[in-house]
Amino acid sequence: MTDISTAKAWLAEARHPVSFSGAGLSAESGIATFRDPDGVWAEIDPEQMASPHGFSSDPERVVAWYNARRRANEGAKPNPAHLALSSQSHMIHITQNVDGLLEAAGATNVLHLHGTLTRDRCHAGCGYAVAATKTGLYHCPECGGAMRPDVVWFGEMLAGSVVRAAETAAYGADVMLVVGTSAVVYPAAGLIEMAYRSGAKIVVVNQEPLDLGVGVELIGNAGDILPDLFT
Ligand SMILES: [Zn+2]
Repeated sequence: MTDISTAKAWLAEARHPVSFSGAGLSAESGIATFRDPDGVWAEIDPEQMASPHGFSSDPERVVAWYNARRRANEGAKPNPAHLALSSQSHMIHITQNVDGLLEAAGATNVLHLHGTLTRDRCHAGCGYAVAATKTGLYHCPECGGAMRPDVVWFGEMLAGSVVRAAETAAYGADVMLVVGTSAVVYPAAGLIEMAYRSGAKIVVVNQEPLDLGVGVELIGNAGDILPDLFT
């Protein structure tokens, strides 16, 4: 069997499939990233804008920067890879992406490890969160704390509840589909290893080989490969 037919067979039989995605999933949707050398953030130091320290020193500037980033992403549409993943109604999606494109494609079971740009939350930590308003700095109606994008910044911990849900999904997976992530940093590598050790088949779809030494690796654009996996 070819790698793609092997992957198709595994996915067709999967009862607890899990996807695990990174920037490569949304690259074909025109999402601006920190690493995009021609992107709108080429002149910005991400650690200044995307850190608790940066927010404390100039919250208006950080909020304005995120709102500009949100506007830059407004034209981004789900690509065929998002649509293929969201067509799998029983699949749990763990993503490192902060865009809402999986949800825009119709996916409901999405765990955002790094948070999401589509929401704001209270920086004081009272738990209040609301859909992003894009209106500038404003304050929490519950406790008066400054409201901030609901994303994980440099120097911050991932949300424990999301990490635990992702680990539970990884342990319970019978197939893990790894899409568009180099998977070298925590928790990416750990989640794949967890899934593999608990018996999941691993299918990688990425621009470059990850050479994990397990499962199959399909090299190319996620938008070209993923629709083929579910037909
Ligand atoms: Zn609050």
